[in-house]
Amino acid sequence: MFFFFVGGLEQQARQVLKSGVGRCINCGSRADLVEYEKVLKLFFVTVWRWSGTDPLMHCNNCKLFFPQDLSLPIDSTTASSAVTQTLRCRSCDRLVEPEFRFCPFCGSAI
Ligand SMILES: [Zn+2]
Ligand SMILES: [Zn+2]
Repeated sequence: MFFFFVGGLEQQARQVLKSGVGRCINCGSRADLVEYEKVLKLFFVTVWRWSGTDPLMHCNNCKLFFPQDLSLPIDSTTASSAVTQTLRCRSCDRLVEPEFRFCPFCGSAI
């Protein structure tokens, strides 16, 4: 048998719009929001290409494309450390660790 189909429809990232905005639904790596294009290849030669309509998420690790609403939220560790700096006791106005339920300085409930 000599005939086999070596063409195919591929998706390629054309331009990164925002990098690291989501997590891959497959492997959990950081994924970029990209503008993509569909490429029709025949015998490894591009015969046709057209732009995708909406931006897609693209994983740099496993090369998966998926819609942005499916992406997992990024780790909240960076977000919660920012909150730490702004948490203050309402009574004595001192900085308090967020896991404390009572202020260690004046004993007020937080
Ligand atoms: Zn992935
Ligand atoms: Zn206090």
